[in-house]
Amino acid sequence: MEQHPVIKTSLPGPRANKLIETDRRYVSPSYTRMYPLVVENARGLWVRDVDGNIFLDFTSGIAVCTTGHCHPNVVEAIKKQADRLIHMSGTDFYYGPEIRLAEKLASLVPGKDPKKVYFGNSGSEAVEAAFKLSRWHTRRELTIAFYGAFHGRTMGALSLTASKTVQKKRYNPLVQGITHIPYAYCFRCAYNLTYPRCNMACVRWVEETLFRTTTPPEEVAAIIVEPIQGEGGYIVPPPEFHRELYRIAKTYGILYVVDEVQSGMGRTGKMFAMEHFGVIPDMTAIAKGIASGMPLGALVAPADIMDWEAGSHASTFGGNPISCQAALATIELLEKELIANAALQGERLLNQLGKLQEIHECIGDVRGKGLMVGIELVEDRSTLKPAAKWRNGIIRKAFEKGLLLLGCGANSIRFCPALTITSHEIDLCISILDEAIRDVTE
Ligand code: PMP
Repeated sequence: MEQHPVIKTSLPGPRANKLIETDRRYVSPSYTRMYPLVVENARGLWVRDVDGNIFLDFTSGIAVCTTGHCHPNVVEAIKKQADRLIHMSGTDFYYGPEIRLAEKLASLVPGKDPKKVYFGNSGSEAVEAAFKLSRWHTRRELTIAFYGAFHGRTMGALSLTASKTVQKKRYNPLVQGITHIPYAYCFRCAYNLTYPRCNMACVRWVEETLFRTTTPPEEVAAIIVEPIQGEGGYIVPPPEFHRELYRIAKTYGILYVVDEVQSGMGRTGKMFAMEHFGVIPDMTAIAKGIASGMPLGALVAPADIMDWEAGSHASTFGGNPISCQAALATIELLEKELIANAALQGERLLNQLGKLQEIHECIGDVRGKGLMVGIELVEDRSTLKPAAKWRNGIIRKAFEKGLLLLGCGANSIRFCPALTITSHEIDLCISILDEAIRDVTE
């Protein structure tokens, strides 16, 4: 039977209200909750709150629950492993699930060279490992990253991040030696040029200006980049962006490190988003969707790059056996049907958002690949003035109507549902969104 959202209390309802009051007293105030959802349980794309309201989830827990909430195969894998071994630490001992997952990931990440895998617990840790390994391997000190990038919040990953100042305020000084440069955000080009007439000026600038003025290329260890920017606004660069940047990296012996934490694990309709761009990176950082919600991060690199010595990097919980089993179950589902579904349903989502754009002046841009899709809201199509207030209002309204959405960038909404999504669920999202936009902007 086709499901629908059910909102039967005011939001937040009485039980939610009580928990939120306690949360205010005891939980860190640094979190950014855009609306008061207090979850009781969830299945597939459907989330039930503590007051019995039912929501359609287009966030999948920040692009994590790729297989839908509590997929039975994943739950079974978790239960079975919990009964056998919960923890031993893969940094000091050996166990099967971590080794088997490393073998699987090494085969999944593109590239002919034999690969090795480092395990951590989060996206930040995967990036942190990439950052450290790039310095270790090259013995170089400098790194290039991008404006709009989000790579995590530990001090190394935060130093690479350039998404919002609130994430960096009062934490300086950060790690030295990082230069941020503009991403290929063609909707708001940093150079005020238009693709393709720009002839990829943003990439040429690296060689023609950066490497001739402040940043000696022979001292650069890595270019660290998201294939598609996530938190920065779901920004898809033009097809040649990564190819040309990669060519520059190779000219100077610089490692091309990609952060697939949000874009990886089938979300874009391919196992890794970089596969859309025809570049085989030197390192791939993975987390979020890898284990359907169990904490796990991984860094995959050719064995001759992952050449650090024993003791140089590790983490007690990294490669937890339950997380690894959840990841193996997740990958099986992705390969069997979910990546293909992401590609198929992603087309439908893009298409329908495109139709909404024809009706609603405030949708300035619709972009994405597979089920990594965003819309950017503007006050006016000719000036492209960002409409952050409308964005926040629309997300709040959608919540009140039973649709869970998340923002990204300053004025965009992201759509990152589970890869199990059906056409019915996409159509529902579109009709609720349509109403929410009308309510807020008319
Ligand atoms: N990299 C990217 C591209 C991300 O989107 C995120 C999380 N939003 C991170 C790294 C950090 O991941 P985590 O929050 O698991 O540390």
